[in-house]
Amino acid sequence: MKSRRTRVMVNMRRLSRGSDPGREKARPTSGAIGLRALYKDYSNEARRAVARSGLWLAVPVYILFLITDLVFIPDVSQVTIPARFMIGLTSLLVLEIQFARKRPAGELEATCATAVVLGYVVWLVPALQTSNAEAFSYYAAFGAIFMMGVNLFFSLEFGLAIASSGLIFASFLLSLAEFHYSTAYCLAFTTFYLCCFVFTSYVNWKLNKERFNVFLNAREAELQQRQAAERGEALLRLSITDSLTGMENRRAADIRLKQFWERWRQDAVAFAVLLVDVDFFKKYNDYYGHQEGDHCLVTVANALSDIVVPLGATVGRYGGEEFIVILDLDRGADALALADAICQGIEALDIVHAQRLDGFQHVTVSVGATITRDVAGTKLENVINEADRALYSAKASGRNCARLFDPNELPGGDASENIAAILKIAIQQNLVSLVYQPIQYLDTGEIGAYEALMRLQLLDGSSASPAMFIPIAERTGAIIELGYWAIRRACCELLSRNIVETVSVNVSPIQLRAPGFAAQVAAILAETGISGHRIAFEITEGVDMEIRPDVLDSIQDLKRLGIKFWLDDFGTGFAGLSWLRLMEFETVKIDKSFLHDAASSEGAKILLEDIIGLVRNRGHRILVEGVENEEQLDLVKSFGIDAVQGYFIGRPAPPLKHPIAVRQPERRRWQASA
Ligand code: C2E
Ligand code: MG
Ligand code: MG
Repeated sequence: MKSRRTRVMVNMRRLSRGSDPGREKARPTSGAIGLRALYKDYSNEARRAVARSGLWLAVPVYILFLITDLVFIPDVSQVTIPARFMIGLTSLLVLEIQFARKRPAGELEATCATAVVLGYVVWLVPALQTSNAEAFSYYAAFGAIFMMGVNLFFSLEFGLAIASSGLIFASFLLSLAEFHYSTAYCLAFTTFYLCCFVFTSYVNWKLNKERFNVFLNAREAELQQRQAAERGEALLRLSITDSLTGMENRRAADIRLKQFWERWRQDAVAFAVLLVDVDFFKKYNDYYGHQEGDHCLVTVANALSDIVVPLGATVGRYGGEEFIVILDLDRGADALALADAICQGIEALDIVHAQRLDGFQHVTVSVGATITRDVAGTKLENVINEADRALYSAKASGRNCARLFDPNELPGGDASENIAAILKIAIQQNLVSLVYQPIQYLDTGEIGAYEALMRLQLLDGSSASPAMFIPIAERTGAIIELGYWAIRRACCELLSRNIVETVSVNVSPIQLRAPGFAAQVAAILAETGISGHRIAFEITEGVDMEIRPDVLDSIQDLKRLGIKFWLDDFGTGFAGLSWLRLMEFETVKIDKSFLHDAASSEGAKILLEDIIGLVRNRGHRILVEGVENEEQLDLVKSFGIDAVQGYFIGRPAPPLKHPIAVRQPERRRWQASA
């Protein structure tokens, strides 16, 4: 077991220069000397004060002893009294100068010791000349007081005390030679002085030892307190630090969030919260192993800190592969710009991730950002929830991108995130295809057209329904490229091979709004050598589409190419009639729900008939969708419509499953321009 001295010594060294074992080894110190030096350092101020107050008390007493001089040795008092004043005042002056110059306690103590020794000598020497020999022989005993002074009154170090008391003793012995006393006197007084010298020196040694022990105890207590405080701090740090990345953890981030929130509530200091999520991290971990996964997280965490910390942001690990950034910002655009910078910064790290589900080859992050807004009743949880939704939206947009929270955006789901990512690579990875559903003309009974319907294959081989992936493609903008691809594909697969006269392709309003859409379609037609007259674009009526001048212009340009427009799913939305008023559709496809309802209710049957009448009166051709059986076919035939489509006529199928039909130019009824 280490002794207390060693323990204190080691700890004090550690505290004074930090715990560096290498340095400790390199500088071996003698424990005792080191401790003494520390003791001197620690006690310096106290000892300076004690020496000063001691001398200030001793000098007046020393001077007051002039009374005893007058009583016992009046004949030499004219020398001893000025000598008392001289020594007393000089020593005080020297001491005050030393004190003012902040000289170490040792020097002040030496002055005190010198003052005492000189005080004794300058009194003793003239006193020896007195003629009152008897009185002096008693008075000489007072010399022991000087010895007690250096050994007991002043808190002198043992060495200094023994030296000065030794000098006093020696002076006394010398005085015996000068002053001729009887042997008995000499023996008695020498013994007395010797005893005084030995006992007071012993007590001084004990006192010094005691003082040193008190110092050791006090320092040890102080060290223990400091160590306990340090341990407490270390524990606190540990509880708010993420052990892997060294960043603040979720607990700390929550505390920070509360602080930002309080400032926002009290002083209206706006702030932004960014949630940063490593894309496909689970795949990374599974494939490269947890060690590499950890390494990846640490690299991302460091890069993230490098980007945001210089901006004064707080950054922490908020979950497995999720990080949080909080900073003072009052503009959404700035938050988004920072979020974009984070995406780019992480992508630039070039960490290979060959297992992603979306064809990218590197580790990327998705970032969701939000900014405090003045909304009544809003809570701190809402801020995190908003950032979460924005992150979600970033993932749904195909990952490796940033999104700012949009209060009007509806929450999405996990599946849509993956689909958005897949849609980005669908064309290049052959995950997207077209199936074609036949459309039968009722006047001839022939298949006059096919509707191209898109299919998306997921990475596990299953397929996603268009009802699911088309809205995502529309939201992420992927529909634009997919749309061009569908038109080109339909031209190549059916029209170039003359399988059918006309192909209808579904077109989303997003596509119509895309700049240069008509020109791009014209380029596809030129490239595939297909006339625009053989193509119909189906626009869904159910879509709440703004009828904007640029959309109408685009439609006019496409019409000039010969492309026909069919209104799809008529009756499902509220814009259909205004659409019908605004632009000429060649054909209106009545939504299948009307036909399906008609089978079960007389009222619905009448409604279907009325709708058909209404559309026919406006001069459009009519197609009824969703014919699933003979009765339904008979029913719609009885209404005198132009064409039907549905499982009863034919299910959507890949191009090879359709019999190759030679195009019959004389039957180009559906080509007539509106
Ligand atoms: P839509 O254009 O109205 O397509 C007709 C939908 O009805 C198709 O569903 C088709 O499979 C289904 N259908 C056909 N006959 C019957 C029937 O007898 N009974 C029933 N119950 N259903 C029938 P699908 O293929 O799931 O497509 C759904 C929608 O996705 C399409 O509705 C269309 O709005 C959209 N869509 C499909 N492909 C594309 C595309 O390439 N571009 C765009 N923008 N939208 C597309
Ligand atoms: Mg359609
Ligand atoms: Mg339809």
